[in-house]
Amino acid sequence: MSPNSSVLVVDRASAPGGGDSGKSAAAFRAFFTNRVNLMLANSSIEFYRSVQEGGFDLGLKFIGYLWLADKHLYESVREGLREAEMIGLEFKLLDPTVLEERLKARVNVRDIEEAQLVGVGDIEAGILVPKAGIMDAEKIVDYYYRACSSLGVEFAFNTEVESLIVEPRRPIGIEGEPFPWQDARASGVRLSGGGSVRASKKVVMATGSWTWSIVSKHGVESFTRPKKRQVFSVKASREPLKSTLYAKGLNAHGISPFIILPKKAYMRPAPPEDSYWVGVSDELGRPFELEDLEPRAEPEFYVRGVLPILSIYFPAFQQLYPHAMWAGYYDYSPDGLPIIYEPYESDLIISCGTSGSGIMKGDAIGRITAALALGFEEVELYTGETLKVESLGLKNRVSGSEKLVI
Ligand SMILES: Cc1cc2nc3c(=O)[nH]c(=O)nc-3n(C[C@H](O)[C@H](O)[C@H](O)COP(=O)(O)OP(=O)(O)OC[C@H]3O[C@@H](n4cnc5c(N)ncnc54)[C@H](O)[C@@H]3O)c2cc1C
Repeated sequence: MSPNSSVLVVDRASAPGGGDSGKSAAAFRAFFTNRVNLMLANSSIEFYRSVQEGGFDLGLKFIGYLWLADKHLYESVREGLREAEMIGLEFKLLDPTVLEERLKARVNVRDIEEAQLVGVGDIEAGILVPKAGIMDAEKIVDYYYRACSSLGVEFAFNTEVESLIVEPRRPIGIEGEPFPWQDARASGVRLSGGGSVRASKKVVMATGSWTWSIVSKHGVESFTRPKKRQVFSVKASREPLKSTLYAKGLNAHGISPFIILPKKAYMRPAPPEDSYWVGVSDELGRPFELEDLEPRAEPEFYVRGVLPILSIYFPAFQQLYPHAMWAGYYDYSPDGLPIIYEPYESDLIISCGTSGSGIMKGDAIGRITAALALGFEEVELYTGETLKVESLGLKNRVSGSEKLVI
C-alpha cells in the first residue's frame, strides 16, 4: 500500500499472536445484518480464502454455523433472519428430527428439570449458515507476520509500551510543554524499563484489549473495555459425542458445524484434537477488567456456567471434563464494531474494539487502519467494495444495529 513507509511493530509478547489472537476460537461467519459488519467479515473471509487457495494453509474450513434454536433464541433472531433473507444471505432451516439424527442432539427437553432451571426449551429449528466456519488463528498470524516481514516491516518483541510521548509540533524549549495552546502530537512511545521509540509520522495503537489502559493515561478514549472470555476443550473421541463431532451431511467436511445453543453457549469443533472447544459469554456481572498477568480460565465457570447448558442438549458432556482451558479478553466497543480513529488530529491512530470478532474481520480492519494512517478518506477492501474510513470513527460513525448477535 505504501512501499516508502517504514514500519516498526513494538509488541510486549515474545512472538506474534501473543495477545488475544492466539486465544481465539477463530470461528467466522459472513452472516450479519449490519452492512459494515457484513463487509468487514465477508471481505476478510474472501481474502483468507484467496490466501489458502494460493497455497498458504490457514486451516479455513467452511463447516457452517448452526444455531440450535429454542423458542426464545428463534424469536431473538427471527427479525435478523428476515433481513438476512432480504439482502440475499444464504441459510437453511433444519427440522429438529434432522438434528436428532445427524448430530445426536436431544431436542425435546422441556420436561427435564435442568432445562426448566436453566430456562431453555425444545429445539424448534436448526438455522444452518453455510458461509461460515473455522480457521486456525495461529496460521493467520503466521501468514501476516511473514507477509509483513517480506515487505520490510520490522518487529521488536518483548518490548512493552508504557505510555505515549506527547510533544508540541513546534517546541519552544520551556519545561512543561506541551501547553494547552500548543499544537501537540503523539511522537512515539516510552518503553517499560526505559528507552523510547520515535515515530516521524504516526503512532498506531493496535493493542487490542490493553488499548484503553495505555491511551487513557493521556486523556484519550478508546471507547473500549476488556472483558474476560474463556474456552474449554473437551475430548469428543468416544461415542456418542464422536458421532456429533464427525456428523455427516451438514457440510462437505464431515464434521459438525460451529454450534450455537440457547443461552448462547457454543461448541466449536476442533477436529485435529478430536475435541470441541466450548464456552459461553457471561455479560451482566462479569467485570470489565484486566487481570494482573495472563487471564486465567476458571474451572468452576465451566462446571457451573457452561456444562449445565451443554448437557441439556448433549447429555454426554456430563461424563466429560475439559482436558485444556484458556482465557483471553473481548475488547468491547459500545456497538460491537471496531473503533478506528485519530483523536485530536494527534498523529495517534487508535484501532481496537474488535468485540470478539477480530479474527473474522481482521483483514478489513487492517486495511482501514492503514488507510487512515496514510491519510486516505476511502478504503478499498479485498472484495473491491469501498468504505469511508470515517465509518468506524466517531463523528460519522456508521449506524444501524446488528440483529444477528451471538
Ligand atoms: C476466548 C476468545 C475467543 C474468541 N473467538 C473468536 C472467534 O471465534 N472469531 C473471531 O473472529 N474472534 C474471536 N475472538 C476475538 C479475537 O481473538 C480478537 O478480536 C482479536 O484477536 C483481536 O486482535 P487484536 O490484534 O486487536 O488484539 P491482540 O491479538 O490482543 O493484539 C494486541 C497486541 O498488543 C500487544 N500489547 C498489548 N499491550 C501492549 C503494550 N503495553 N506494549 C506492547 N505491546 C502490547 C499484545 O501483546 C498483542 O500482541 C476471540 C477472543 C477470545 C479471547
